[in-house]
Amino acid sequence: MHDREELADALRDLAGALRHHRDLGVTEVPLSAAAAAAAPPPIDAAKALAAQEAALQGCTLCKLCRSRTNIAFGSGNPRAGLLVVGEGPGEEEDRQGKPFVGRAGQLLTKMLESVGFDRERDAYIANVVKCRPERNRNPEPDEVAACNPFLMAQLDTVRPGVILALGNFAAQTLLGTREGITKLRGRAYEYRSSILVPTFHPAFLLRNPGPEYRRMAWDDLKLAKREFDRLAALKR
Ligand code: URA
Repeated sequence: MHDREELADALRDLAGALRHHRDLGVTEVPLSAAAAAAAPPPIDAAKALAAQEAALQGCTLCKLCRSRTNIAFGSGNPRAGLLVVGEGPGEEEDRQGKPFVGRAGQLLTKMLESVGFDRERDAYIANVVKCRPERNRNPEPDEVAACNPFLMAQLDTVRPGVILALGNFAAQTLLGTREGITKLRGRAYEYRSSILVPTFHPAFLLRNPGPEYRRMAWDDLKLAKREFDRLAALKR
């Protein structure tokens, strides 16, 4: 290929990459690699999340699109220090197009409040899959894989200090393990640039497995709040 054609191709690729970043809400591109490593480009998180949600409308990347009513992308504070990750939308979430608005969501709000988090102010809430699996079955590996880039984009946009992973699905998917939640919970993990705290899913706690499980969940929430406060103090 001639030099001019190669240059034209490279410029076309660069223009495509810049358009993509602009659509994701990136407002500035640092000039040197060293500057980029020192300070990632500032993004307007609300705008970026809105662009990601818009890009997902009409998604047909997996078979969950056939049975969903609405995509439940995410909700909450785009600049939250806490990102809560659940499994996937249930019936009410599918109807409203928002995560954790049914019974499990009400318990989640109370769990967060029990340690001093305000759901709207302190948290952004998302799920491993954004569309409801029929009859609330577990999401299948191809569905989790298809939706994973969208969860990763949410994490990269919100850049939370702490991630609260609810239940087996969220904890196993994020940590890349088959270990069960009972073994995984009770400690904090370094995950990308965040601290990840796994705990029981509120839907599991609603099934009343016994008071010891609620106590363990409360211990996990206290751990998440301690990490949240510690990281907030470092920023001051
Ligand atoms: N359970 C989940 O995992 N996510 C929701 O949004 C609701 C229930």
